[in-house]
Amino acid sequence: MKTYEHRIPLATPTMHGDEMAYIQEVFDRNWIAPLGFNCDGFEAEMNAYLNGENQSDFHALCLNAGTAALHLAVKLAGVKRGDIVLCSDMTFAATVNPVSYEGGVQVFIDSERETWNMDPRALELAFEKYPDAKVVMLAHLYGTPSKMEEITEICKRHNAILIEDAAEALVSEYRGGKCGTFGKYNVLSFNGNKIITTSGGGMLLCDNEADRKKALFWATQAREPALWYQHNEIGYNYRMSNVVAGIGRGQLRHLEEHRDKKETIYRRYKQGLANLPVTMNPYLPDSKPNFWLSCMTVNEGVNVNPMDIIRTLNDYNVEARPIWKPMHMQPVFEGYDFVSVEDKPVNEDIFARGLCLPSDIKMTEGEQNYVMDVIRSSF
Ligand SMILES: *Cc1c(COP(=O)(O)O)cnc(C)c1O
Repeated sequence: MKTYEHRIPLATPTMHGDEMAYIQEVFDRNWIAPLGFNCDGFEAEMNAYLNGENQSDFHALCLNAGTAALHLAVKLAGVKRGDIVLCSDMTFAATVNPVSYEGGVQVFIDSERETWNMDPRALELAFEKYPDAKVVMLAHLYGTPSKMEEITEICKRHNAILIEDAAEALVSEYRGGKCGTFGKYNVLSFNGNKIITTSGGGMLLCDNEADRKKALFWATQAREPALWYQHNEIGYNYRMSNVVAGIGRGQLRHLEEHRDKKETIYRRYKQGLANLPVTMNPYLPDSKPNFWLSCMTVNEGVNVNPMDIIRTLNDYNVEARPIWKPMHMQPVFEGYDFVSVEDKPVNEDIFARGLCLPSDIKMTEGEQNYVMDVIRSSF
């Protein structure tokens, strides 16, 4: 097989031209500043999208990164030095790092096999072990909705605040409810590889306007309303630029279209790889993932190492990546507690057998067939 003539990437931004019109207005009005009309517009349009049919009442706040939104969510949830936060274990480090920014202590929760997300049974076990835990930090991996009914019920019963890291799961749905509307505080990311992008940026979604205002206050250096510079609290510079918010407004119009293309890619992999001893990342039948990244695991007992598949793909000019390495396996979190209901942790197993496949929505059918040919050659 010949090496592909150009690199087939994992996921890159897809622009449509609408974005430029919003940016042009920024230049025309010389509003090259943090905050401004595009930030206001982006928030209003996201509120309309998320709350519309859902009949929820979330209040979006544009920020310069999903990580900033996660930090402010942790602050709003009241996490203080020494407080336990029950966290998703198999996720990007950005989900859990902000707990440390506030001096909180992460306890990592294993996943279940039906969605690869936080296992409600392990969460329940963690509450038995840490009855004082007041905050749960949940990520939806690769755009696949978690078992929200069980998880929201457990949080309610233990009087805990749920923070939903929906950075990978915008436009995903669970039983008709949109990801990003299940927690008290929820987070979106518009980093360059996400389903829609602003180059870099994020949003915090609060279930009430007072909390949104408080987060905006912290995000703008905690400047008190006085003529002089008055500060009673520590603040941050977490604002989104009016320029990049314009990109977000243009992208938001293409959200469903991006999702549909991602689903087509997933279905092609599922069909094309059906004869190999591999399994695509699973989801619940009553959920509607955004299929942000298509992933697969090599079936148990098959002697093929996913890292070798990744290396082979790379040799043929195809970008593939390992599954997020679980947080409880990270040196930086050595000694932190990890709660699982299995003898052999699910996350260690998925990490050992899994990989993320190219999921760029500009990938042609021919390119995807090529990717699958290379995968086949690894078996
Ligand atoms: C991308 C991502 C983030 C971080 O978002 P940034 O906008 O890059 O700061 C957080 N959590 C998850 C699960 C992510 O995938």
